[in-house]
Amino acid sequence: MAFVIGTIIASFSYVVGVRLPQQQNWWWARSQCPHCQHMLHWYELVPLLSFIWQRGRCRRCHARISWQYMAVELIGGLVSALFFTVYGASLQWLLLLCLLMFCVIVSVADALYMIVPNRVLLFVGIPLCALYSLQQDVYSMIVGAAVGFTLLYTLHRITGGVGAGDVKLIFILGAIVQIQQLFMLLFIACLMGFCFFFWKRQHIMPFAPALCAATLITLYIEQLQWLTLY
Ligand SMILES: [Zn+2]
Repeated sequence: MAFVIGTIIASFSYVVGVRLPQQQNWWWARSQCPHCQHMLHWYELVPLLSFIWQRGRCRRCHARISWQYMAVELIGGLVSALFFTVYGASLQWLLLLCLLMFCVIVSVADALYMIVPNRVLLFVGIPLCALYSLQQDVYSMIVGAAVGFTLLYTLHRITGGVGAGDVKLIFILGAIVQIQQLFMLLFIACLMGFCFFFWKRQHIMPFAPALCAATLITLYIEQLQWLTLY
């Protein structure tokens, strides 16, 4: 069940991430096939299953549907299920689902258009931090955000290798993982960045997906440590 909820959240967030930067009506517009503009029915929008059932093609024009759709849904489902095993059905797990939504929207927008939408940071990221502050030490959150922000801002000014959007993003993610886990987050993100660089040989890469993935991995490792301690 946790897996299914994760795929639905990822599926919805993916669409928001694709549409929001294009100024499209992301809330009301029905999904359609990008090739033939065929309006999709509800049974063509079931996460994972529709893709498998239709063998990755549009039902009308048989154009291929991007595999990224399914990859994002699958990752969302796995993240949700993995955290359910450590959190259980708790407030922390619900918070994690909100974080997952935020991460998918930001990552998709950055991967496709190389931007981190300010609206998402403001209207999803900030409230998310506020919710996390009910559960965590506010002081370590502020320090995490400030240190992460300062580090990436310095990198941004000196090398220009880090985008302004990434600097704003680490402010929110730094607060969520707090100062204790900030360096693990940055280490994992840089490691992913290097792997991507050697794999694609591309100088410019979207860094937000690496930061988001590193945040989720960091939070999970932290939980595992707690479990082994007790
Ligand atoms: Zn089509």
